[in-house]
Amino acid sequence: MNLIDVILPLPLDARFTYAVSESDFRQINIGSRVAVPFGKTKVYTGIVAEIHDRFPEKYELKEIEQIIDEHPLITPNQFQLIKWISDYYLCSEGEVLKAVLPNAFLLESETIVERNQDFTLSENELTDEEYLVFEALQNQSVIKIKEIGKLLEKKNVLQLLKKMVDKNAVLLHQEIYKKYQPKLVKYLKLGEDVGQNLQLIIEDLNNAPKQKEALLKFYSLKAKSPKPISKKKFKKEEEVSDAVLRALIDKQIFKEYHLQADRTKTDTESYKSEISYSEEQIQVLNEIKNAFSKGEVGLLHGVTSSGKTEIYIELIKQQLAKGKQVLYMLPEIALTTQLVSRMQAYFGNEVLVYHSKYTSNERVEVYKHVLNNTGGKIVIGVRSSVFLPFQNLGLVIVDESHENTYKQYQPSPRYHARDVAIVLAKIAKANILLGTATPSIESYYNALHAKFTLVELKNRFKNILPPEIQLVDLKEAHKKKKMKGHFSETLFLAIEATLEKGKQVILFQNRRGFSPILECNTCGHSVQCPNCDVSLTYHQQNNTLRCHYCGYQMAMQSHCLVCKSPELSTKGLGTEQVETELKVLFPKHQIGRMDLDTTRGKYGYEKIINRFQQQEIDILVGTQIVTKGLDFRNVDLVGVMNADNLLNFPDFRSHERCFQLLVQVAGRAGRTQERGKVLIQTYNPNHQILQQVTTNDYATMYKEQIDDRYNFKYPPVYRMVKIIFKGRDYNRLNEAADWFAKGLMMQFKENVLGPEFPAIARINNDFIKNIILKIPPKQSLDKTKQYLLKIKKSYEAVAAFRGIRLIFDVDPY
Ligand code: ADP
Ligand code: ZN
Ligand code: ZN
Repeated sequence: MNLIDVILPLPLDARFTYAVSESDFRQINIGSRVAVPFGKTKVYTGIVAEIHDRFPEKYELKEIEQIIDEHPLITPNQFQLIKWISDYYLCSEGEVLKAVLPNAFLLESETIVERNQDFTLSENELTDEEYLVFEALQNQSVIKIKEIGKLLEKKNVLQLLKKMVDKNAVLLHQEIYKKYQPKLVKYLKLGEDVGQNLQLIIEDLNNAPKQKEALLKFYSLKAKSPKPISKKKFKKEEEVSDAVLRALIDKQIFKEYHLQADRTKTDTESYKSEISYSEEQIQVLNEIKNAFSKGEVGLLHGVTSSGKTEIYIELIKQQLAKGKQVLYMLPEIALTTQLVSRMQAYFGNEVLVYHSKYTSNERVEVYKHVLNNTGGKIVIGVRSSVFLPFQNLGLVIVDESHENTYKQYQPSPRYHARDVAIVLAKIAKANILLGTATPSIESYYNALHAKFTLVELKNRFKNILPPEIQLVDLKEAHKKKKMKGHFSETLFLAIEATLEKGKQVILFQNRRGFSPILECNTCGHSVQCPNCDVSLTYHQQNNTLRCHYCGYQMAMQSHCLVCKSPELSTKGLGTEQVETELKVLFPKHQIGRMDLDTTRGKYGYEKIINRFQQQEIDILVGTQIVTKGLDFRNVDLVGVMNADNLLNFPDFRSHERCFQLLVQVAGRAGRTQERGKVLIQTYNPNHQILQQVTTNDYATMYKEQIDDRYNFKYPPVYRMVKIIFKGRDYNRLNEAADWFAKGLMMQFKENVLGPEFPAIARINNDFIKNIILKIPPKQSLDKTKQYLLKIKKSYEAVAAFRGIRLIFDVDPY
């Protein structure tokens, strides 16, 4: 009997055994997809994990329906990685598989199929059956795979659909995004020789007074501000006609150019000719080389704008020379845009990009390129790129490695991509470098305890001074009545001065919307989400109240829902309100906003980032996203609207995070020539973390934090597993959590904390309760996890707890 074990993309602990016919058996490969029956009616796509002849005793053996791939999709290294993740993060291999494969690979009976609008039938052949499906899709826009089965009176249609996908006739799970080409704005500059010959040219223009006038206007604009002058704006505001402009351009007195295109071009030229590294950079490159040769994990601690990216570029070059693949990880999709253009300038089409704003089909393409080692050796990607099927991986770079967005919270696998990257590098025998200006406490701890090798860049490139950071006391400013809305006079004047110089400003506020609370002045009631234990945020833009946890929304209210009083006031500050205030304070300037609400769609980030880069926006307001590794050359001032809610976050990392965030946001200022300025508004100017931020004193911050972690038994000294309970039935939830905690206490005593409700105890109608298990340094991690799984098993046998979901989150913060 020929048997195979299959991993199904489901949260089930086991692999499943199926029988394979003789003829199929000759074609089957470990790592290939097979379609298998599951339950009474379902068909799933799974991956062949093992070929064997151990007959299962527990259940009736079924035969596979079909082999889908000739060649494996999952490599031996990926199997190892999947196994490690499943063991370490206490989840099933199936859940990991689901994260590994783009979902277009995992056809199942519930998958939705739709017509590809770009497909033309005349030029493409379809079989009769394929044609039937295609025709059905002309009448209804989407069909589930199982309905196609009924239509064709066939049990299994996965192979047929795979062929239709290959022919581009249909799309699976497709999200439709509007196509967007980054807009190229035309700008004007003076022709090359105009400067020297100005007198002559002006004389020449005496018989063309309009042209002469336009030229002089251009000069006076240039004298006022160094900002690039867009053609459209010049025409409109200076009332210059098309004919006049064209004449000047024809005479080569003006030249048109695209800011973006122009920049990459000149940059490319200087890039392609070797970068000349500073002494400090050369030193660091040598230290990294040395660490790599010993197989050590490198931690590059380099202040913002010290030239870390250039270090990566050199390391990547060395790998490409050896024909190796490189994985370059970033914590945020928003950061990929800038990095991709920077990398393309050096490496052209060696660069592949992988993240979730790409459609499922595009991800499939990148996956195949990496698997077959075709079409580019460098992958730039976020979290999930760590799962790609590298064949010949030489180097992994984890940029901004301190970022907590590397941790996946929902759904399972709840993994930390930085840690998985380290394991990946080990399995693939590749080098790995973590880079950051503000190392996480645990990475720095690892470096000090000889687990990582620390290398440091202490100076900004070209020795540009670090930004000057100043705290602005809001209490003081209020007392002296020096506030304009939420802006202290200090911040207001600094913005004004910066704009006058033609420079740009970034303002950070960590909440989106207009204001997070709408409160009744009479009875004090504030409008709450019906599904979650949070108040609704007011969004002025479309006059709604919205829940940021479940998406619930309702129209803005004119009267209190409880006492009917019309006197309502908004409390708290969001990015929308900052934007609104700015428009009043600086009516002549362009204000842009970057947060979740303004960046939807595939190119949401690009649009805003490009506009800011091209200086169409003078002031950019945003949430966390503006604080991270973006590189803008013309920003001189960074303002933090309110640092206090960063300090008050209820978790042991809040100080570490606050430090990282503020140092990072400060790093956006003054990245070229002039020294940048950072103003942080706060009610607690004496707080030790804020003091450490102003002096960029990482060492003191680390020392204080690690002392706390020792004293209060937190990571990295102790490890943690969070056990989460979720369910609609409040009483059952409490019973379930108590039951589990009791089981844990018998073994782990005082190292069990809770059960406790988190700060937001109900989301989307599910109540939530947590237990924290702390694991002392000497306690075996494996044994602890085995014990957890054992209790889980007994838990699952209790019928009363069936409606309460149990979730393990390993290294939860
Ligand atoms: P980081 O990633 O450390 O914040 P970047 O790599 O963005 O810093 O470098 C900051 C600036 O300095 C960038 O504009 C970069 O192009 C420039 N730079 C860094 N190193 C060099 C070098 N060796 N030669 C030329 N320019 C460099
Ligand atoms: Zn009221
Ligand atoms: Zn809600």
